[in-house]
Amino acid sequence: MDMGMFAGKVALVTGGASGIGVAAALRFAEEGAAVVIADLNEVGAETIAAEIRAKGGRACAVRCDVASEADNAAMVALAKSEYGRIDAAFLNAGAYAQTGFAEADAATFDTMVAINLKGAWMGLQAVLPALEPGGAAVVTASTSGVTGLAVAAAYSAAKHGVIGLVRSSSQAFAARGLRVNAICPGPVATAILGVTEQPPLQVPDALEVPGYAGTMQPQHIAEIALFLASPRSGAINGQEIIADAGFLASYPPMP
Ligand code: NAD
Repeated sequence: MDMGMFAGKVALVTGGASGIGVAAALRFAEEGAAVVIADLNEVGAETIAAEIRAKGGRACAVRCDVASEADNAAMVALAKSEYGRIDAAFLNAGAYAQTGFAEADAATFDTMVAINLKGAWMGLQAVLPALEPGGAAVVTASTSGVTGLAVAAAYSAAKHGVIGLVRSSSQAFAARGLRVNAICPGPVATAILGVTEQPPLQVPDALEVPGYAGTMQPQHIAEIALFLASPRSGAINGQEIIADAGFLASYPPMP
């Protein structure tokens, strides 16, 4: 695993115990990065780290609640102490509440904002000053961060905030060559949507998106995360990249 786009580099992935985060952690490792896998689910994170180590890669796991400032700081400190540097941060942890505006209470709103928006804010505050020159942070937003989602109003509001955060933080360390971008996935087959069986870790040649439902896999999003985290996307900063297989491009969708 010493050749690849991230050979000799260090990548940090939050929400790395499931779904998109797992796919990204495995791909970073395949591309030669040492990977720090952070998640509320420490056992799940360690399972993925062990899988990477079993293949000859470098990886460690850390329990991190992204809604905790102290946990974000500890995650960054661990990455530095284990591997000495951080080149890429994929701030991907998130939580979903399927509650429309009329039914949602303030506690649901607070939880959605604490994990999805404030978690990203604190993650960027912790990691950006620690990134190596030329490094990059990538935050997982959502298509519901660029258009409303009536069935998940608080989640959608928080993800809109993530895009504002990415835009407004993107200049802060630009003088050091650091970039911050967002990915906005459409529906992806992960636990957050109730899909627990993960398909083999291969990216299909073509997407099959029957109408609105979507059949994107975590690997589709992971590829974009790696691109945005690498110098290959050096001209992209402060942007939200919609990865929805055409989900938002046309309404109504194909039947
Ligand atoms: P997932 O449920 O498979 O993974 C989410 C991971 O985040 C889990 O491992 C969970 O333990 C972790 N997590 C939750 N709260 C946390 C916290 N407070 N601190 C640390 N870790 C925490 O779902 P996924 O689809 O892989 O989600 C990844 C990201 O993608 C999320 O930000 C989600 O909002 C976003 N997203 C997903 C979809 C989709 O359709 N799956 C669409 C758009 C955006």
